[in-house]
Amino acid sequence: MQVPLLDLKIQYRALKDEIEPKIKDICDRQYFVLGPDVVSFEEKTAEYCGTAHAVGCASGSDALVLALMAVDVTRDVEVLTTPYTFFATAGAIARICAVPVFLDIDPVSYNLDPERLRAFLSESAEKRDGVVYNQRTGRRIGAILPVHLYGQTADMKQILSIAEEYGIPVVEDAAQSIGSMDGNLKKKAGNMGKIGCFSFFPSKNLGAFGDGGALSTNDENIANRLKSLRMHGESTRYHHNEVGFNSRLDALQAAVLEIKLKYLDGWTAGRQKNAAYYNEAFENAGCDGILATPKAVNENHHIYNQYILRVKDRDKLVDYLRELGIGCAIYYPVPLHLQKCFEYLGYREGDFPEAEKAANETIALPIYPELTTEQKDAVIKEILDFYR
Ligand SMILES: *Cc1c(COP(=O)(O)O)cnc(C)c1O
Repeated sequence: MQVPLLDLKIQYRALKDEIEPKIKDICDRQYFVLGPDVVSFEEKTAEYCGTAHAVGCASGSDALVLALMAVDVTRDVEVLTTPYTFFATAGAIARICAVPVFLDIDPVSYNLDPERLRAFLSESAEKRDGVVYNQRTGRRIGAILPVHLYGQTADMKQILSIAEEYGIPVVEDAAQSIGSMDGNLKKKAGNMGKIGCFSFFPSKNLGAFGDGGALSTNDENIANRLKSLRMHGESTRYHHNEVGFNSRLDALQAAVLEIKLKYLDGWTAGRQKNAAYYNEAFENAGCDGILATPKAVNENHHIYNQYILRVKDRDKLVDYLRELGIGCAIYYPVPLHLQKCFEYLGYREGDFPEAEKAANETIALPIYPELTTEQKDAVIKEILDFYR
């Protein structure tokens, strides 16, 4: 039996009759960029995240750039983040000529380790006139950018308390985590830091029919600044107080997303059920030391954007499953501090052992909500067969 890593056609078939008239309606109105459909989706998104505001934009990557600009990260300013994430997290920092500073991850949650953050700031940070500098480089430390990887929030209780101690704004990369809830703070992703960043790339838990993104915030001034930045920094029509860029959400995407948002919690429940099914099967198979299932730490509400196993002989397992037509993927094979484009930052292999280990030992399995029991059983059987 072949099992795809993801099959979006099933979801589309179920929603076709609801989505297609809405698309036709927008075509009839010929109002494609921003406008009432986008405003309506922004309101629903804010409500869903529990924030006062949400602002649509063109992608999750752009959301990160806009958020960093809105907290005044500029050229040569350092942003503290994780090396184990999708490229866009650090790419966004570098695109505005700011400097990514990587800190290692927690090996269980795969998220930024707050102890590394605490240690880094207590060794390197120096506060002068209310501004935090890295005393080794002389650069300002402008933001902390934790990622809620795979669908579970980073340890925001600790990260926020460290950030507050130093007065550094926190931007959440929630691209993989819309709807996830932090177990300690009982708040949703995007409602804990200064700004939350979401991606609606089709394969994310809430996926558009193309690229799309959004930002969430409780700060009205920030929301207004984000709306200006996504329109070339316009203050009023054709008047620019700062330089932004074009990053708007289309009405077609907003309309599709607003329909899908109603079903998101149901899909999440399906993903959680699938994860529990896999967990039980793998844990009962007695694979200690060979295979470790994902853990929701801090009683987090994990939305399983990805289901990640840590396994022995990962590359051989991947080859074996691909041969059989069992979908799987490696997120992410090269940690960001070892990417060629970041050579100039001066990191070396061995700098972040947990991130490097995760990159070498993890594999993502099919987890989409519509998976059948037969499909899950096939995935489990082939993996257990490989180790027998
Ligand atoms: C997908 C993703 C992004 C980028 O989102 P796009 O919409 O593809 O630009 C950023 N960060 C993380 C962690 C992601 O998974």
